[in-house]
Amino acid sequence: MKKKILLVEDNTSNQELFIEILKTSKKYELFVVDNGLKALELLETFKPDLILMDIHMPNLDGLAVTRTIKSMPSIAAIPIVALSALAMKKDIQAAMEAGCIGYITKPVRIKHFLEQLDKYTEEGHR
Ligand SMILES: [Mg+2]
Repeated sequence: MKKKILLVEDNTSNQELFIEILKTSKKYELFVVDNGLKALELLETFKPDLILMDIHMPNLDGLAVTRTIKSMPSIAAIPIVALSALAMKKDIQAAMEAGCIGYITKPVRIKHFLEQLDKYTEEGHR
């Protein structure tokens, strides 16, 4: 069975890029929402194997969405990996403190990105 990945990303070009990268994948099925509120609403009934969380979004940013998810016992266990164009130590640290288990910088390198997905969806990484 394919692993389900929820992408929370406000930028349309980025959404399309990730859809394109994962389209041919036999391992992953991608679901996309463009803001944090939609993600929280969807997570009431849908439990993905991994969440890819854009950090920079209007209104509720990715850190706030991550903190909210981690504060809700029914969904707190879903692993979240941050996506950001920023790669400073303090940015990475802020994401980890919010509850992310990993940090992927954009633009992604496809091979590396797929390797990261393999790693973060493996059992035992949760
Ligand atoms: Mg963004």
